[in-house]
Amino acid sequence: MERDQVLRLDREDALAGLRDAFILPADTIYLDGNSLGPVTHAARQALIDTVDDEWGAQLIGAWNSADWVHLPSRVGALIAPLIGAGVDDVICCDSTSINLAKVMAAALDLRATRSRVVSERGNFPTDLYMAERCAARAGHGQHVTWVDSAADIEALIDDDLAVLMLTHVDYRTGDMHDMKALTARAHAVGALVVWDLAHSAGAVPVHLADADADFAVGCGYKYLNGGPGAPAFLYVSPALQSEASQPLAGWFGHAAPFDFTPDYRPADGVQSFLTGTPPILGMRALEASLSLWRGADLAAVRAKSMALGDLFIDTVEAVCDELVLASPRDARRRGSQVSFRHPAAYAIMQALIAEGVIGDMRSPDILRFGFAPLYTRYVDVVAAAERLVAIVDERRFDAPRYRQKAAVT
Ligand SMILES: *Cc1c(COP(=O)(O)O)cnc(C)c1O
Repeated sequence: MERDQVLRLDREDALAGLRDAFILPADTIYLDGNSLGPVTHAARQALIDTVDDEWGAQLIGAWNSADWVHLPSRVGALIAPLIGAGVDDVICCDSTSINLAKVMAAALDLRATRSRVVSERGNFPTDLYMAERCAARAGHGQHVTWVDSAADIEALIDDDLAVLMLTHVDYRTGDMHDMKALTARAHAVGALVVWDLAHSAGAVPVHLADADADFAVGCGYKYLNGGPGAPAFLYVSPALQSEASQPLAGWFGHAAPFDFTPDYRPADGVQSFLTGTPPILGMRALEASLSLWRGADLAAVRAKSMALGDLFIDTVEAVCDELVLASPRDARRRGSQVSFRHPAAYAIMQALIAEGVIGDMRSPDILRFGFAPLYTRYVDVVAAAERLVAIVDERRFDAPRYRQKAAVT
């Protein structure tokens, strides 16, 4: 695309003004918001205010005076519209991994007479570990069957299926499942579905209620910009809330935590999925970043995300055939990321980062680029693609310094 045209796309972008809400280092093109969203001015200010005015000035009284105690539900209610859920059906707490353990255990108990759990081998490792361990520990003789391709799921949807556990958008390839169709298929045989929205919330439209999803979990530090290790969230369908029970019975999930009674009585609704004291600083930061979404046109966000991905693919493929597209070419089937395969993926990404374009690499050969529509510009996408192609064409990644692996890739 001609440079004039690209600049025009940015000028005409209705979301362009939101970029100013983020703190982004100069001379850096950040295409890794799918791993760690950048800090927002609002989150930075919220952390300062929470420390100074609440923790600092009000001390323990802030649990009431600053209403810390209701932050899990309040932040959950802010996330709800982004995932098509009722405000009372989402709660913010713990990490995605812990929330997976809670909802998987609840789902497995609700389908105790069935033995099979189905998920994809390519799923994020924590999801795989949790599914295995939860199935083994539930005590109903359940086991996990891994499929290598989404096309193989269909054949395993039968009367023995207890839980279908899927990540809506594949973390490596960006491949997006049809949530409504798969949920309906599983429900037709009486099974439950757990959706992981780690790469969906804040990236693509999600309609949990419309899809009749049973359980969902998701991440606060990726497209929601809650900060490193931000609390995650979980969703329980209103139809299941009275019967679903999670194993990590902690005092924050108790109906009356400050009665300090020795017997556990779960709170009503999704509140019973809380466990311990919420991490207030992380929740305040997440709450502040979520304020950016108030009134956001989610259709415009999706349209821009698709256009950014298409532009990146077109710019790379126009001049380079060494990089093999690993994501769906059809933007409607893709999350808000684009991945390419190359045997030297690690070294290429290191070279690219050295040149100011931050994406990431996923073993063994995936170069991954996330396009967060709230702050990514069309010019950034073209510049990133051009630098990537130059590094590959000129083999600039061959330098030995690009081959040393760090602990986090
Ligand atoms: C990022 C991600 C996680 C992260 O889980 P944590 O508990 O936050 O470490 C889990 N599952 C998927 C699919 C992810 O993409």
